[in-house]
Amino acid sequence: MASSSKAPSSRRSVFDAVHIRSEFSAAGISAHFIPLIWKYVLQNPRCSDLDGVPSLPAAAYALLRQKFRPTTSTLTAAADSKDRTTTKLLICLQNGESVEAVVMRYDTRLGKYDGKPRPGGVRSTLCVSSQVGCKMGCRFCATGTMGFKSNLSSGEIVEQLVHASRYSQIRNVVFMGMGEPMNNYNALVEAIGVFTGSPFQLSPKRITVSTVGIIHGINKFNGDLPKVNLAVSLHAPDQDIRCQIMPAARAFPLGKLMNALQSYQNESKQTIFIEYIMLDGVNDQEEHAHQLGKLLETFKAVVNLIPFNPIGSSSNFKTSSDQNVKNFQKVLKGIYRIRTTIRQQMGQDIAGACGQLVVSLPDERSAGGATLLSDIEDLRI
Ligand code: SAH
Ligand code: SF4
Repeated sequence: MASSSKAPSSRRSVFDAVHIRSEFSAAGISAHFIPLIWKYVLQNPRCSDLDGVPSLPAAAYALLRQKFRPTTSTLTAAADSKDRTTTKLLICLQNGESVEAVVMRYDTRLGKYDGKPRPGGVRSTLCVSSQVGCKMGCRFCATGTMGFKSNLSSGEIVEQLVHASRYSQIRNVVFMGMGEPMNNYNALVEAIGVFTGSPFQLSPKRITVSTVGIIHGINKFNGDLPKVNLAVSLHAPDQDIRCQIMPAARAFPLGKLMNALQSYQNESKQTIFIEYIMLDGVNDQEEHAHQLGKLLETFKAVVNLIPFNPIGSSSNFKTSSDQNVKNFQKVLKGIYRIRTTIRQQMGQDIAGACGQLVVSLPDERSAGGATLLSDIEDLRI
């Protein structure tokens, strides 16, 4: 097994949607069978072949055997946070590289809704990776410090949902794991196409793509992915600070980015989610909150303030004090009437929090009380 996961294989993932459709079409097999194959793999995630898929034409079995694998990636480990709300999955790709995906569980019954306990129960969000590493080099981001290694195929993106579905029923997907999704745009669009179709049937409203601000991607986003949420990692209200902490801001200047976002919103009528990492003394002062408030004046936006997760010795940044985060929120809400939330920290003890996604599971055997599970069946939820 280990050698086959590293050896380059010409067989592709059945979840590479464009590829399987074109192979089926060339062989004269109806594309209607494809969701049945996906459903089978979803229900039998450890199957090694596709011979057990019921009711396919004979030619389809032969084609599948020759050209496809049920999954090309392998779930190699899972770490569960102490409070069990977060599970980090380590997934080995066909090229031998690894990525991480994180399952976060929220119990909706714990909050109050209209004065009563909320309806529903545990709902899970899956945070997926789109690249191995990232070339954008944001200074506060663990993935950014790795540099860019490779793009995931659309099938590899979808397979993260297949692996995660063994743990929890996933209702939401966020592209906030490793990589910049807009730099792997075709695979992003293709994977979301699969997520929203049979058998996954996720609502596009429950999918969020987070971008550092790749303008040409934002310009196409509404046309290709209507109703999917767009989150933008703004992180600073002016071009200078943005350039200091995010080198990509030089190629995608703030003024042009805001224009692209305005056009996107005029066209899509969608709320834009603004991510803003709180870095002590860098971008967390009251004046920055005022600048941000003014910058967003013409937008329907929700700001999500993200406490900085320390990424180890290579970083000079510190997390903002709770007081600064609260003051920042107060200015945005009180003066500019902008809905502003503070991101709930999850999974810090297993480095499963945002920006900590850099493959490091083996080092965590003794860290922070996280449990390293070699077999998924050990995990009881
Ligand atoms: N490349 C995309 C999506 C992946 S990063 C983007 O940058 O938006 C997902 C989110 O985690 C981004 O908002 C990113 O800025 C944030 N993030 C990165 N490093 C972080 C850290 N150390 N602490 C908190 N958030 C971080
Ligand atoms: Fe890449 Fe996003 Fe990390 Fe920046 S924050 S380096 S864009 S993954």
